[in-house]
Amino acid sequence: MGAVTKRYLVRTFGCQMNEHDSERIAGLLEADGMVAAENAEDADVVVLNTCCVRENADNKLYGTLGHLKSLKDRRPDMEILVGGCLAQKDRELIAQRAPHVDVVFGTHNVGRATDLLAASRRDGQQVEIVEAGELDEHEAFPSALPVRREVDHSAWVTIQMGCDNSCAFCIVPAVRGPEVSRPFEVLVAEVEALAAQGVTEVTLLGQNVNSYGRDLAVAARRGGDKTSLAPRFAELLRAVGSVEGIRRVRYTSPHPKDLRPETIAAMADTASVCEHLHLPLQSGSDTILAAMHRGYTAERYLERLGAARAGIEDLAVSTDIIVGFPGETDADMNATLEVVAEADYDSAFTFVYSPRPGTDAAAMVDRFVDHAVAVERMERLRAVVERSSMRRNQARIGRIEEVVVEGPSKKDPAVLSGRTRQNKLVHFTAEPIRRGSYALVEITDAGLSSLRGRFIEVTEPARHRTRIRVSVA
Ligand code: SF4
Repeated sequence: MGAVTKRYLVRTFGCQMNEHDSERIAGLLEADGMVAAENAEDADVVVLNTCCVRENADNKLYGTLGHLKSLKDRRPDMEILVGGCLAQKDRELIAQRAPHVDVVFGTHNVGRATDLLAASRRDGQQVEIVEAGELDEHEAFPSALPVRREVDHSAWVTIQMGCDNSCAFCIVPAVRGPEVSRPFEVLVAEVEALAAQGVTEVTLLGQNVNSYGRDLAVAARRGGDKTSLAPRFAELLRAVGSVEGIRRVRYTSPHPKDLRPETIAAMADTASVCEHLHLPLQSGSDTILAAMHRGYTAERYLERLGAARAGIEDLAVSTDIIVGFPGETDADMNATLEVVAEADYDSAFTFVYSPRPGTDAAAMVDRFVDHAVAVERMERLRAVVERSSMRRNQARIGRIEEVVVEGPSKKDPAVLSGRTRQNKLVHFTAEPIRRGSYALVEITDAGLSSLRGRFIEVTEPARHRTRIRVSVA
């Protein structure tokens, strides 16, 4: 009798960086011969890829682990792995609080997940957390691991890990370490390999993409190379954007203080770089921006945004805003509302502040804003954002836009959804079109978070394979 194929489930909590790590974990499990399960009830191996940036991350993790424990009580062969930022931060605590977990690994050793699983089968529970800088280059950049991509025409490419900033609300520098950029040539070669496999859209990922390359120059100078010029993010955009077959390049996230004119010029000059900028504001009050250690004022932010809008035609802009940061007054909130109105965003991710243990802001207990006050401020903020979102969406009615087809709409399988270069979701009716194809639609209607369109024609059929592997170098 042949061996029974094991099924796995990777559950992701958190940001795109985590989602990309989850793809790599799935790739490793598939390289081990496993296949994806539909849900935890059917899975032999469950991986929880945790995030400590989101609210109540630990409650969510332990709640999920409680549910998994009841499954494992019934099926003792089930194996549970916990990785990601919260694992990096809490380490042995997770293993102590949830002894039914087989493996705990961190953000710097994603590539060890299956080795640790094998070790746990032999020797019992494994907890392995390593710090940034303790690994060699190959281990530190798990982009080179096999990847099981969730959307095959579109790929994420990590260009940089970690962050050198110290925003008071953010745990990332503590759990992901200082900025480390991947070599320029390696990234271009990776995008060329993806394009050869039919990928047409790439999203460059990093915590602070605009400072890409800074550490490479420092390392070159330390190595005695005084002439070496640092590769810059703008050059990377141009190089990746000119790879044949790549129709769309996106990136996230730039830090407003590091958004340089040459990046704006590269976006404007490189046809494949999409006209969408996600520029996190966080607050429009200079007092709060200083308390957050953001490194810019509201005026400076608006200047940079103005330069981007002036340089890039038809630019859509989104942002992140935190309401109720410790010490925020009504006057601070009003300043935020004014900046948000002036910035004229297409969309915004808005959050009520909640402390993340281990961050500077979490210690500002005496300045915490009453939750009800923060919620009321949030309502006012949403009203301002919604006004500009609606107006900017309505302004697209009558245009003919190219969308990349993402598949049937979540609400109505008879309707297809696609995304414009400005990152706007468009719903339209057409005969089935393969996901990843490009099509022209005429925008006929606009809502707050999506548009409606009339299908015109397919401009380029999808050409990706259904399953893509980026093999280990
Ligand atoms: S730039 Fe600030 S918010 Fe972004 S990852 Fe770095 S510390 Fe966190």
